[in-house]
Amino acid sequence: MSDPRTIIEALQNCRTVLISVHKSPDGDALGSQIALMLALEKMNKTVTCHNLDPVPQIYRFLPHQARITSGPNVAGRFDAMIVLDSDPPRTGLFAGDYPASTLINIDHHITNPRVWRLEASASATGEMIYRLVQQAGLPIDREMALCLYTSIFTDTGSFRYSNTSPECMRISAALLEAGADPWLVTENVYESNSYNRLKLLGTVLGNMERSPDHRMAWVVVTDDLFQKTGTTSEDTDNFVNYVRSVSGVEVAILFRQTAPKQYKISLRSKGRVDLSSLAQALGGGGHKNAAGSTLDGTLEDIRIKVLGEVAKVIQSQMGN
Ligand code: 5GP
Ligand code: MN
Repeated sequence: MSDPRTIIEALQNCRTVLISVHKSPDGDALGSQIALMLALEKMNKTVTCHNLDPVPQIYRFLPHQARITSGPNVAGRFDAMIVLDSDPPRTGLFAGDYPASTLINIDHHITNPRVWRLEASASATGEMIYRLVQQAGLPIDREMALCLYTSIFTDTGSFRYSNTSPECMRISAALLEAGADPWLVTENVYESNSYNRLKLLGTVLGNMERSPDHRMAWVVVTDDLFQKTGTTSEDTDNFVNYVRSVSGVEVAILFRQTAPKQYKISLRSKGRVDLSSLAQALGGGGHKNAAGSTLDGTLEDIRIKVLGEVAKVIQSQMGN
């Protein structure tokens, strides 16, 4: 369905290209964005990288990340806009009115509507960018290798999740051969916790709750807590994985306040419960084992609704 050749042909006719990724960008989104920017520049394109949200601190080791601008607006029009690692609406930019004649979407999320170019079997969007660059006959230099390795390494949970495939290992080996430094990535992404982030984690896990059957556990992070601990939303990255790691828990949920009456939910499964349809029904999307959405309402209302829906999904897919 996603043919790299069609994308390369479309890009060959363009001069100016805008690349954007989803809000709250992660390692896969940013690694893919920078690697594709570098590849397109080798094809003599003029590239702009712009996202709604700034690059989180832990990804500021990526080369050229300072060239990625952020904010709700981008001036000008482009020959092509490429949206990576999400469907175009989740960029949170342009309200559906994209400033380009050609819109290209490169993503591996199963819930992405199929009108866009998509490849749900890829471990990471970075894997798709790797194939695209190979197909275009461009060399993978050390900087691109570091970016694409970061994509695959973070989206596979350091080669631990079920999306870890022989193919992504082969590509990662090639990226290491091309000069990616694995410890540079690990140290920045997983060994650079701020003191305040760990204090926040302590408080959040201290208030963890679980269902009577222990198959569902959840945590809540409110604005109040961010203020008290001097932290921000990017400090909650990966928190939900601690909740999933509890023995007996099949589905973990993180409720994170994003506005006075709005919460982002992150859902994680151990693999026996498929969460992608539920996340989609809640207005979001994602993968089988990792999905999310943003819901409007009070914490109480949202919590009752989400816990009820998750309990139903566990019940219907796993029985009693
Ligand atoms: P996280 O919980 O880490 O934010 O996201 C888990 C997975 O679900 C990621 O692959 C992410 O892209 C996807 N996801 C999270 N929130 C949303 C959302 O609101 N809409 C869509 N379409 N996908 C989401
Ligand atoms: Mn991804």
